[in-house]
Amino acid sequence: MRGRTHALGYIAVLALALALGLAGGWLGAQIDNYAYDWMFRRRPPSPRPTESALLLVDENTLSRMGGMRRLREILAAGLERIATAAPRAVAVDVTLADASDPQTDARLEQALGRVPNLVLACELVDDGRRWEDPHPRFRRHAAALGHVHADPDPLDNVTRRIPLAKASGRQRRWALALELFRLSRGGAPVIETPDELEVAGVTIPTGRDPLRPMRIRYLPPAGQSLSSVPRATILEIIERPERAAMFRGKAVLVGVSAQSAARDRLMTPFSYGRTMQGIEIHANAFETLARGEFLRDAPLSASLAFALALSCAAGLAFWFLAGWPAYLSGAAIILAAHLLPVWLFARNVVMPYFAPALTAWLSVGGAAAWQYFAVRRRWRQAEADKARYQQAMHFVTHEMRTPLTAIQGSSELMARYNLSEEKRRQIAELIHSESRRMARMIETFLSVERLSSGQMELRREPFEADELVAACVARVRPLAERKNIRVEVEPIEDGALEGDRELMEYAIYNLLTNAVKYSPPDTQVTVSGKRQGSRVRIAVRDQGYGMDREELRHIFTKFYRTRRAEASGEKGTGIGLSIVREIVTQHGGSIEVESEPGKGSCFTVVLPARAANRAAVNGSR
Ligand code: ADP
Repeated sequence: MRGRTHALGYIAVLALALALGLAGGWLGAQIDNYAYDWMFRRRPPSPRPTESALLLVDENTLSRMGGMRRLREILAAGLERIATAAPRAVAVDVTLADASDPQTDARLEQALGRVPNLVLACELVDDGRRWEDPHPRFRRHAAALGHVHADPDPLDNVTRRIPLAKASGRQRRWALALELFRLSRGGAPVIETPDELEVAGVTIPTGRDPLRPMRIRYLPPAGQSLSSVPRATILEIIERPERAAMFRGKAVLVGVSAQSAARDRLMTPFSYGRTMQGIEIHANAFETLARGEFLRDAPLSASLAFALALSCAAGLAFWFLAGWPAYLSGAAIILAAHLLPVWLFARNVVMPYFAPALTAWLSVGGAAAWQYFAVRRRWRQAEADKARYQQAMHFVTHEMRTPLTAIQGSSELMARYNLSEEKRRQIAELIHSESRRMARMIETFLSVERLSSGQMELRREPFEADELVAACVARVRPLAERKNIRVEVEPIEDGALEGDRELMEYAIYNLLTNAVKYSPPDTQVTVSGKRQGSRVRIAVRDQGYGMDREELRHIFTKFYRTRRAEASGEKGTGIGLSIVREIVTQHGGSIEVESEPGKGSCFTVVLPARAANRAAVNGSR
């Protein structure tokens, strides 16, 4: 039988698994990152021609064109070349905050003025207290300023997203890639809704975070480079001007890629330890916007609901199934926990991987262990039941043999010999009493077995203690009279009870027969009772042989009889009291025993008073 405590314990185990799973998920954020990167690499964005192109100042360009000191001239030369190719928009990821040599600046300014839809880089400085903007002479030519901050994951420094917005005080700037995208699509402003940004008909899911983060869908690596955004170096287009044609109609990102000079070297899910320059990250962010294939984060509530569902499924599987079907379902649940994030990722939804997986493992493990131990407990219980049954069988065969032998012997005597009327009557009486003893034994036995195995229905009928006691006393009187034992009954007031009257009569009758059996002749047995709060007490007191403390500890054990009882010559089986206790506890009551050797015993049955009475008391308030 599955008790309530069993169910509650089971639920507690599952709740613990869920809590640990979620807590572990929080701690296992880096595992979520690994899983994300793995899924990311498995599902690169759909192949489509890129809309952007990179114009890079690489190591070669620097060494051949005069180094970083000449950067502005190098940039000017590059911009002059691509201006002729008519790009759609141009973003320059180089901080041009200060003025330098006037002649150089004039050349750069002129070059900047020649490219359409120019975005210049700005940057938060002084710990985010102010924006460092381009020098006004350059800024004049910019259609927009875009910030160049990435958002590397604090755990592993991999850049999986960029903040589309950054603010210093009131002054907020969009990301360089977003500005470039906006200008390349006609220059309409960015429209903000609580959860999204909208640019030129493209809706970007960002959530409510004021930084408006966007996951970058990096293009897969190509050849030597970490992504397949087309590129050329400034040196290349100067040496081979026809190369500039690749920038026609493109959104061009201009920046420094030389390892020695680039400020920002970042990792991506494709990196495997290699780094990517900021300019290329911006290009990938741009491509993400241009493709409109965004990864959105599953809402927290959905992740929690999934973990809860896994835990419940594990609980139900191991509750209703057993053996291999249960383990198979458990495996399916664990598999589902691992696969759903992958399946969702294929649908551009990012769900934490570790928390549901851990929850599934813990829930399935917890449920399986719990049920395994419950099965073992039940098995042990079954073993104990079997042992008890064998003991009972042994006892019955042993005990039955005595009356049976007597009956057989006596009937044989009657059949074989011509006996006197007196002798014949005596033998008939013996047969009668022995067969009754057997019948009683069988009846008692069946009752105790049925009651303790839960097969016996406990009826719930109202009855009065007074009337119950009277019936029992009437039955026991002939027995008492034979030993000249007086049975005294004190009236019981307010003894309303509820339960199986027949069983209760059996219990009280048993106490009475014991009192008579284990008392010497010419003594008194007193039955009394009273109502005490919500309980009714019925006491059977005798002046009999009594029991010592050690004996009292055993009398409710089946088949136990005291030495005094054996010596008294009274027949008994030693199971009556165990049945009495079973009946009383089934009724929600208890038994108290006081006894002293040679002085007598008092058995008190304490039972809950009838509920109807309690209702009446409540009602009268
Ligand atoms: P039985 O009477 O068939 O032996 P019970 O289970 O009714 O079995 O009682 C168990 C034992 O408890 C008795 O054998 C006897 O030793 C002791 N006992 C029970 N009631 C009394 C009593 N009123 N006075 C003394 N001993 C008692």
